[in-house]
Amino acid sequence: MNDAEIRSQLQKFRHASDELEISETEREKLFSQAATYLNAFIGLLQNEKGYQQKEVASLTISDTPTDFKELLSVYQKEVVENGINAASGKHLGYIPGGGIFASALADLIAAVTNPYAGVYFASPGAATLETEVIHWLKKIFSFPQTAVGSLSSGGSISTLTALTAARDAHEIKSEKIYKTVMYVSSQVHHSTQKALRILGLEDAFLRVIPTDDNHRMQAEVLEEIILQDVHAGLYPFLVVASAGTTDTGAVDPLNKIADIAEKYKLWFHVDAAYGGFFILTSKKHLFAGIERADSLIIDPHKSMFLPYGIGAVLVKDKHAVLHSHHRSANYMQDTTLKDLTQSSANLSPELSKHFRGLRIWLPLQLHGIQPFVACLEEKLLLVQYFRNKLLELGFCVGPEPDLSVSYFWYPFSSNTDEKNKQLLQRIHADGTVFLSSSIINNRFVIRIAILSFRTKIETIDEAVEMLARCLQEVNQTA
Ligand SMILES: *Cc1c(COP(=O)(O)O)cnc(C)c1O
Repeated sequence: MNDAEIRSQLQKFRHASDELEISETEREKLFSQAATYLNAFIGLLQNEKGYQQKEVASLTISDTPTDFKELLSVYQKEVVENGINAASGKHLGYIPGGGIFASALADLIAAVTNPYAGVYFASPGAATLETEVIHWLKKIFSFPQTAVGSLSSGGSISTLTALTAARDAHEIKSEKIYKTVMYVSSQVHHSTQKALRILGLEDAFLRVIPTDDNHRMQAEVLEEIILQDVHAGLYPFLVVASAGTTDTGAVDPLNKIADIAEKYKLWFHVDAAYGGFFILTSKKHLFAGIERADSLIIDPHKSMFLPYGIGAVLVKDKHAVLHSHHRSANYMQDTTLKDLTQSSANLSPELSKHFRGLRIWLPLQLHGIQPFVACLEEKLLLVQYFRNKLLELGFCVGPEPDLSVSYFWYPFSSNTDEKNKQLLQRIHADGTVFLSSSIINNRFVIRIAILSFRTKIETIDEAVEMLARCLQEVNQTA
């Protein structure tokens, strides 16, 4: 093609391709429609149910343009008004998320400005901002300045990064795998086993350490089993403790486990995905020893109330992390730095990624830390309040919770598990608030996990009223 032909072809495509650069007037209109939609969403949250279930109608993508308002209404109907309303304070199941507005705003700004945060050379500011977030986390958990870390999409990927570093620091490969032993508690989050399997450690031994009456790992049993393994000629490699288990919110005895890890030279990993930020509250004492971990994960999309999509990992052995994650290529030659840790691409499996540092940095700067701490203290009190109310209704409750997760069941005179299952079904059908269930000590139990920044005492009152209502229904049909 000669120049004139190229120009004429370009002219042809221009009209359509320019559609992607929305004009300022059109942007204002879209902003205003989005703002109207989002304000209505937030404004109505208190009146909406925590849970509803319906069939999803078609969300098929069409090749031709559709009006924005129409798309918003499809989104509202098919996505927002179906399933768990996770932005609502009435989500009290699993581990609730959050979605503070300042963080959502940061996401928008990050996406529009779109800096390349994974590589220092590409965006020194974005890379430094993310490093500052990691420094802030290191300070909170009393990790040394020399520790490294990265922001990930969540706890599962953070775990993968941490345990990969652990594997490589201990050179667990080929024949050694068959002699390697890893230790977790019976309450460990399943993302740990999943990560170990992805890491190629499926054929290593995994010992499940029992927990005590408060669902905390029994450190004495851990040591006994390690000793047996040492005597059997095996290689104890890793112990995973939880600082806030998913099922019960229990914090394992971190100092005792750290002592054992130190004595037998194990990699000590702490899963603080759910519980981590409670270290900033009156529960600080439970976290003593967390600073001794070799690696730590924490989910700001849980106990910092941010929207889904942000986890963090801290690792003390910088060389292990770099060994697992640093790799160069010819086309990356301009980006090489003396200090590899300035680029998160060298510390995590990701290269190009959303600039997620801003979604934590901006809310912290905008609000200061105090509202976050107050919110966490509030959750601790709300779980106490809820348990008191349940006892008044005749429910049995689990042990005094370490943090903001607890469980309960109703002591029906017969078929207790079956009837508690029926009770949960009624709770789901009612949907005023959402609760989930579990099996704890072979018993079917209903869980409450209070973590949303939007959960207030009124929400808990609604939950209690709903439970009384559903209980009455189960009793009537019995
Ligand atoms: C939620 C959770 C995870 C997994 O984190 P994701 O962000 O969901 O991937 C790991 N450990 C614990 C204790 C959790 O609560």
